[in-house]
Amino acid sequence: MAEPVLEIRGLCKQFGALRASDNVDFDLLPGEVHALIGPNGAGKSTLIKQIAGEIMPDVGVIRFAGRDVTGLNAVARARMGLARSFQVSSVCGEFTVLQNVMLAVQGRLRRSYRFFRPALSDRRLTDPARAAIARVGLSQREGVRAGDLSHGERRALEIALALALKPKVFLLDEPMAGMGPEGARSLTGLLDGLRHEAPILLVEHDMEAVFALADRISVLVYGRIIATGTVAEIQNDAAVRAAYLGEEEAR
Ligand code: ADP
Ligand code: MG
Repeated sequence: MAEPVLEIRGLCKQFGALRASDNVDFDLLPGEVHALIGPNGAGKSTLIKQIAGEIMPDVGVIRFAGRDVTGLNAVARARMGLARSFQVSSVCGEFTVLQNVMLAVQGRLRRSYRFFRPALSDRRLTDPARAAIARVGLSQREGVRAGDLSHGERRALEIALALALKPKVFLLDEPMAGMGPEGARSLTGLLDGLRHEAPILLVEHDMEAVFALADRISVLVYGRIIATGTVAEIQNDAAVRAAYLGEEEAR
């Protein structure tokens, strides 16, 4: 088996008496979409935040690209290419689509070339920014203020930002939230293209999207991973059906 890009062992995080992460083991392999599903409050976002370094585990180890990053803060992890994608805070509503993506490219280049001071007309910024914008189908909208985009276009912009940052993993926490069925399908197509750039840890409630995208699924219930397997394995897992999927169907 290929060496995991992300390797989590024995992660525990408690909030008071509540176990949000209860001895979690999790691997993200090169090239895979690994979905993390589970009921509200299961601890999915808490796990993502610990991976990104936004909150620290009580116990356990997070290895990324072969290195123990458990003691590193979020900024240091982001520099290594381990950061949450789709952070609403990373979009500036006053800036155009192109300016937003150029800023992301600029941030990445600064990481690589310490003395590089790019100008906003610099082709080293505009070319990769326009390429990312084209990938998500927003070329016609590059001059529009991000604040004036539709909900679906804004999601597309967030993906362009994620692409421009060239992370080593995509950590996505409910990217489909608030999308209608049509928007969700088009976003699924865009996410499917991301897997060629870097492996994806996908937290998502939209089961249609999860079943379409995931190579593997892990199921988190009360902070514990109760099963990990292929889509078919998880769909047929009795414990998973009882704890989660059955409940979804009953809604
Ligand atoms: P999910 O993303 O699976 O819906 P979360 O990771 O957001 O779940 O939350 C898991 C549990 O931990 C929930 O019961 C939530 O209320 C609790 N929780 C999350 N963050 C905090 C916090 N900072 N302080 C106290 N409790 C928290
Ligand atoms: Mg959550």
